[in-house]
Amino acid sequence: MIVREITLEGFRNYDRAAVALSPGINVIAGENAQGKTNLLEAVFLLSCGRGFRTRLDSELISFESETARVAARVFSQEREQTISVTMARGRRKQILVNGVRKNANELADSLRVVLFCPDDLNMIREGAKERRRFLDMAISQLRPNYGKLLTDYNRLADSKRRILTDWHEKPPLLDALDDYSEQMARISAQLVRYRAAFCRRLAETATPIHAEFSGSGEALGLEYKTVSTVTDPFAPASEIYEQIMAHQRAHREAEIASEALLTGVHKDDLEVSIGGRSARLFASQGQTRTAALSLKMAEREISTQDTGECPILLLDDVLSELDARRQAYVLNRIGGGQTLITCCEDGGIRERTGGRVFTVSAGSVKEEG
Ligand code: ATP
Ligand code: MG
Repeated sequence: MIVREITLEGFRNYDRAAVALSPGINVIAGENAQGKTNLLEAVFLLSCGRGFRTRLDSELISFESETARVAARVFSQEREQTISVTMARGRRKQILVNGVRKNANELADSLRVVLFCPDDLNMIREGAKERRRFLDMAISQLRPNYGKLLTDYNRLADSKRRILTDWHEKPPLLDALDDYSEQMARISAQLVRYRAAFCRRLAETATPIHAEFSGSGEALGLEYKTVSTVTDPFAPASEIYEQIMAHQRAHREAEIASEALLTGVHKDDLEVSIGGRSARLFASQGQTRTAALSLKMAEREISTQDTGECPILLLDDVLSELDARRQAYVLNRIGGGQTLITCCEDGGIRERTGGRVFTVSAGSVKEEG
């Protein structure tokens, strides 16, 4: 998978820019606040249909503009393709792949990315939500059905939440409660199986990467945690469904009394440990970074194995905080596919990677040398 050329119009701080990228490593250099991360976000947009620093399309449109358009020529699925996303204030965005309208979920067929940005450190440091987001995004890109199931689940969960908060005022609402629980359990059973399978592969793939990356004897441990009554997340969906239903029945009264959705796969977690200790509680800054980056590199490897194509790796501000040995490991490891990597100064990366260097200055991009 290669992004050959990307054009940005009215996107973030870009008025108009076209960048012809190298199929290997692309170093995006420049001072602070010039548009390096914005360029990565434009690539992300073409893969996921949204930005990675906002949920609002309107924030992606330049302050100076009413519309924004990002387009690219890419090579994937063994052919040349075109992708474009056009946004206008107050209107729905339009996504085209080879001139045909698509929805955001379908973009991953033509372009997949693995992003590592400073916020990803929260995956290790913070609560389960950040890790679920990682799992959900990784699995959605590989299994389009997963994204659909997740959307359905979230919609049902929202409705059930509303019943639980509003039933005091409108008691008849409670009549629908069990129906929502049942539908959610049915979808949950499938989500659990997808997540369990992905977490197992992630553990198999990330643990050796982490061992090499950290150069320490501390093993990375990953464990998928779901609803407590589920004894085997790999069991047939019908079995998991029964176990989740049992859990929901056991919590029914408590949910009604507390007016809150207490149980369900929306609380799942991927527990990360280093050397047998909780990474969330005990990891140092370097350990946090190394663990998070190992997970992302594993995601890229799994995606490559599954699809036969290496996703585009977007690394935002990764190198600066790593020691020289770990930097060398990252630069070595990313050789296999196309990578965009931002940094504040070139710091000799070009010499070390043989990659192309682009300098970004106030929303314009110039190739060096
Ligand atoms: P740093 O090294 O600090 O991470 P950067 O080069 O990655 O900097 P970006 O995050 O790409 O910087 O942002 C570049 C500029 O774009 C910032 O000044 C930001 O305020 C601006 N910007 C963000 N959104 C918009 C928008 N919708 N319209 C215009 N400018 C925007
Ligand atoms: Mg930045």
